[in-house]
Amino acid sequence: EQGYFYRDTWAEVDLDAIKENVQSIKRILPNEVQFIAVVKANAYGHGAVQVAQTALQAGATYLAVAFLDEALALREQGIDAPILVLGASRPRDVSVAAQHHVTLTAFRTDWFTEAQQFLEKNQVLNVHVKIDTGMGRIGIRDKEEVKAICDFVKKDSRFFLEGVFTHFATADELDDNYLRGQHQRFLEILSVFKEKPKLIHCSNSAATLRFPFALFNGVRVGIAMYGLTPSREMEPLLPFELKEAFSLHSQLVHVKKLQKGEKVSYGATYETGEKEWIGTVPIGYADGWIRRLQGQEVIVEGKRTKIVGRICMDQCMINLPHALPVGTKVTLIGKQQDENISCNEIAQKLETINYEIPCIISNRVPRVYM
Ligand code: PLP
Repeated sequence: EQGYFYRDTWAEVDLDAIKENVQSIKRILPNEVQFIAVVKANAYGHGAVQVAQTALQAGATYLAVAFLDEALALREQGIDAPILVLGASRPRDVSVAAQHHVTLTAFRTDWFTEAQQFLEKNQVLNVHVKIDTGMGRIGIRDKEEVKAICDFVKKDSRFFLEGVFTHFATADELDDNYLRGQHQRFLEILSVFKEKPKLIHCSNSAATLRFPFALFNGVRVGIAMYGLTPSREMEPLLPFELKEAFSLHSQLVHVKKLQKGEKVSYGATYETGEKEWIGTVPIGYADGWIRRLQGQEVIVEGKRTKIVGRICMDQCMINLPHALPVGTKVTLIGKQQDENISCNEIAQKLETINYEIPCIISNRVPRVYM
């Protein structure tokens, strides 16, 4: 299953860690709560098919992606579990969605009237209605529009209103006031439905781990499944340990001794202070190892050392403690012996959130599954 590759840089995805994370989360959920595994964006960079299969084996019952293309790609790879497209889909694409049993998100009455023209007579489209309770992104904001949609689907049986959901804006923040307001607003809108849809869900990872009152009968879990904590401030609140699944490795392709005062990389900005051993690592900004990671530490022989000079498109250079053979392993994210560089550390260096880190490691870096 693993494709062969001809380069010395790879990402490892620990599927057992993902499996354990799903199982740990499921253990705190009541039986009737469905685990919707969020595998959009190539499963946050981990590999959509492999993660989807693992999550389903571990007890997830539904998958979620951002776009219809992502759902169709999973279907092509033989995934036949229910899939929900969380983002906006075009009304003219409903027939393709119905044909492949993909559930779409709807949040406008005019979307239904337009979509109606594109569904074949005998097709049935599964729909979840999205409510905007305070995220301000996509979703219905008022009760009248929800009523109008309920009336509409009653008249056209080609639309099956399977679910209703909303999304929290602040579930990972210590102050839960805003979230409680969103939850309240969601309850009010739910009261409009004469018949409750089968699947009601609003919690992302952070809310799933923290707020049992907001579980309804489905949760949409992304980041925690990958073993990452939704925010730094949530770390002390975790009910169990999460296992980070993603790591990034390379190997030295060139090792050389430079004399004092010699320069390294574009701009010749790095100058050796003493005689130094410098190693070249075949990863660069086209792999998502962006130039702002200049100066970041990596692990070689179980010890930290630094990236020196500018990061190039396909390569970067590191300081070595002594001569090391070509082929020596360099870990950029993850464990090596007793050292560890977490996605959080890289996120901090880049002044961003851990979500972004596996996502930005580009497709050029092969994913190896453990
Ligand atoms: N639900 C929706 C609508 C999302 O956009 C996302 C991801 O951003 C998730 C659930 C999963 O969130 P998390 O990765 O924080 O669990």
